[in-house]
Order: sequence, then C-alpha cells, then structure tokens
Amino acid sequence: MERPDWKGPLGAAFDHATTYLGGLPDRPVRPSASLEELRAALGGPLPDGPLPPERVVAELIAAAEPGIMASSSGRFFGFVVGGATPAALAADWLTSAWDQNAGLYVLGPAASVVEETAATWLLDVLGLPARASVGYVTGGQMANFTALAIAVREVLRPHGWDVDADGLWGAPRVRVIVGQGRHGTIDRALRHLGTGTNCVVPVAMDAQGRMVPEALAEALDGERAIVCAQAGNVNTGAIDPLDQIADLCTAAGAWLHVDGAFGLWAAASPRLRPLLAGVERADSWSTDAHKWLNVPYDSGLVICAHPAAHRAAMGVRASYLQHAEGGERDQIDYNPEHSRRARGFAVYAAMRQLGRDGIAALVDRSCELAHRFAQRLSAGGAEILNEVVLNQVLVRLGSDDETQRALRALQREGTTWMSGTTWNGSAAIRISVSNFSTDEDDVDRTVAAIEACRSMGVGNDGG
Ligand SMILES: *Cc1c(COP(=O)(O)O)cnc(C)c1O
Repeated sequence: MERPDWKGPLGAAFDHATTYLGGLPDRPVRPSASLEELRAALGGPLPDGPLPPERVVAELIAAAEPGIMASSSGRFFGFVVGGATPAALAADWLTSAWDQNAGLYVLGPAASVVEETAATWLLDVLGLPARASVGYVTGGQMANFTALAIAVREVLRPHGWDVDADGLWGAPRVRVIVGQGRHGTIDRALRHLGTGTNCVVPVAMDAQGRMVPEALAEALDGERAIVCAQAGNVNTGAIDPLDQIADLCTAAGAWLHVDGAFGLWAAASPRLRPLLAGVERADSWSTDAHKWLNVPYDSGLVICAHPAAHRAAMGVRASYLQHAEGGERDQIDYNPEHSRRARGFAVYAAMRQLGRDGIAALVDRSCELAHRFAQRLSAGGAEILNEVVLNQVLVRLGSDDETQRALRALQREGTTWMSGTTWNGSAAIRISVSNFSTDEDDVDRTVAAIEACRSMGVGNDGG
C-alpha cells in the first residue's frame, strides 16, 4: 500500500487552526450560520466514493467554520468554559497522533507515567492528600459518577452488602445528602448508578448557594450517608463551608464528596486557598481540567483519598489483558472506561506551561476580572446579584424581561457570548471568567456591549 499523505490533511488542519486561533480576538464570538445553513452544508447521505483526505479536511473546515462558537475566545463568558493553552492544545494534537489506548501501562507507557506525574502535581496544587488516587475522566459529570460509585460501594461494605455482586436491588438504604445549590450532574450520576434520586436529601442553602451546616447536622441522623459538598456554585461561585461540613461528616461516619469542578482550583491561589479550608479532609473530589486549567475538551478528574477503594470499584481483570505487575499505573483501574484517550498529556502540558505560579496567576486574574465586571456594571446601573468571591458574576438589568431581552441581543451582537440563569427567582445574566487569555480590554469591551444591548432592550418588545 502507498504510504498515506499526512502532510496534506494535517497541514490543512494546522493552517486553519492557527488562522482560527489567531483571529479569535477579532471575530464575532457567536456562530454565524443558521441550523438550515449548517444542515445544507454538512448534511446529505454518505457518498459512495472516497475523497482525498486533504479535501475532506478543506470541505469540513469550509462547511463547519460558520457554525463554530468561538468558546476559546477571551470574550467568551458562557457557562464555565475554559480555553486551551497553546501547550495543552499541542499536546492534545499529539495525543491524537500517538493515538494511545491509555487503559493499560503496556499499551502506552509514557501515557501512564505522564498521568502519574500530573496526578502528583494536581494533588500538590489543589492541596489534597499526596496519597490520593486520580482518574482522568471526560468531565465533572463522570468524575461525580466515579466518586459516587466508589462511595456507594464503601458505605455499604461495612454492612455486609457486596455491591459488585448484588448491585443495589434490596440493598440497605443510603442517603445522599446534598446542598440545594448542587450541580445537576450529582443527581444524574445517581440515576446512572442505579440508586435513583429518591435517596437525595437536599439541605438548605444560604443566599449565595452554600450548604448551611446546621441543616446538614439535622439531616445527618446516624444512618448510612454520603454527603456531597460543593466548591464553586455554578451560578455564584460560592464555596461550601468545608471544614464545618467535614467535622459533621467525621462525627457521623459519612462519606464526604466535594464537587469542585472549577472551584477546587481556587486552592492553587495562596490568596484564595483559605476559602477551601478543610477540603483535604474529604473522601473524594471531582474537578475539571477543561474549565479553569484551560485544557481542551474533554478532561475531568476524579480524586479519591482511598486508592484501594478506588481501584476496587473501577478495576477490571481479564485474561487477555496484560495488567501491570511491578507497580506501574494501569489507568483502567481508576476509570469507568475501558479503552480510553491518553487525556493526561494535555493536563500535563497545561500544568507544565503555566507552572505553579502561572496556575495561581490564572486563577487570581480571572477573579480580579470578575470583580472588574461587577464594579463596572454596577457603576453603570446594573444590579449584581451575588457576592463575587471567585470568577462568577450574576448580573441583572432591570426586570426579568429586560434582562432576558438584553441577553438575547447580546448573544446576537457578537462581541461576547454569555448565558443566563435564574437566581433566587430572578432572571440574571451569568458571567464566568475562565479563559487564560481574557484581559482588561476584553472585559471593558464586553461591558460596553452589555450596556449597548441593555439600552436596546429597554422598551423594546423583543423583536
Ligand atoms: C461544570 C460542573 C459540573 C459538570 O462538569 P462537566 O465537565 O460539564 O461534566 C459539575 N459540577 C459543577 C459544580 C460544575 O460547575
């Protein structure tokens, strides 16, 4: 067989990628194509004949580009979405080129050692126990799923219940105590796990979305329990009082899980770390690398203080697999996946590019820019609904209607893109500063766009 031409298609991808990324500051953040246009450009039956790879790439670029959301732009503030640092993105390309099946050491020794090393860096930067185990999953959702799978198994084990063999049918009841302000992926993880959501016991949150410890104390009545605390409420950024929660969990013998998809990264900043006091006392943690660390999608992390429990819950043995024998890391033991992408390369590269100080600076800068948003917007008459403690800002522009109209206008206008929410019964625009490249100018241009869209929204029927 003729050797494939790699340079043609990869060169076309490289040229487009560098042009795209270099043009981010100057292009509209929103996509420009409609659904119909995208279906016309990308749809249709699979043609019978082949196409040269370079043409496939060129046609894909031409057809997809108008439907790309510039979510790695410094002026993208929607949901909690990070960009991709140059080293992380390059490492992600290499991950595809190397195409390791990173389940087993034997199938990708470098992928395994990179995940081992990045795990020690992560635990250090996040202030978590050095002995904890780390699994590289697709995101916060699967991190929560994995952690809760470990937790359910461990909480039932002392009661003589073998989850591996008997599952959850007929098992003693476990209560999953959560704050009202928890992320929806906790409930979804429980649905996937088969516990269902009737085991969820929501306890009161305060005005910022933090779990109220007195309410938790009341809910912890001595029965088997898993407590899901949160570092970083998806609306306000608020962090639960973890030390107090850990005291209560220790006293009650409950498993403590901390969902810190983005908020856990506050520990990387010496200035913000006190907000997370007590976080190291939990049994398991979830976080994302594709949010605040600015690793390309998809990249999440599940961390467990009990490595043997982690391996027991996730591991798999098969005669045809070649398992590690000399202390090497088989990722399959820490992940719900079997075959998997070597996600560690990009995490490693992001951390190596930034260094300890760079990660702290990224977190601090995002929070400072969130404050800048709040100050400028409130000076212009907007209402800020949350205490800006991290990188999240909730903005209200007049009534619910006016706020929503301004948001729609803003999403169309293109300078920026952000999403909305309802907080304590009021419509709000949500700003999340999570991109390494965002600077003061991005914030100021965005504030100007918000103010322009706000005045368009007043008295306009929405049209
Ligand atoms: C984003 C987020 C999640 C879900 O993470 P994904 O990476 O989208 O799967 C879970 N919990 C919190 C608090 C989050 O902010």
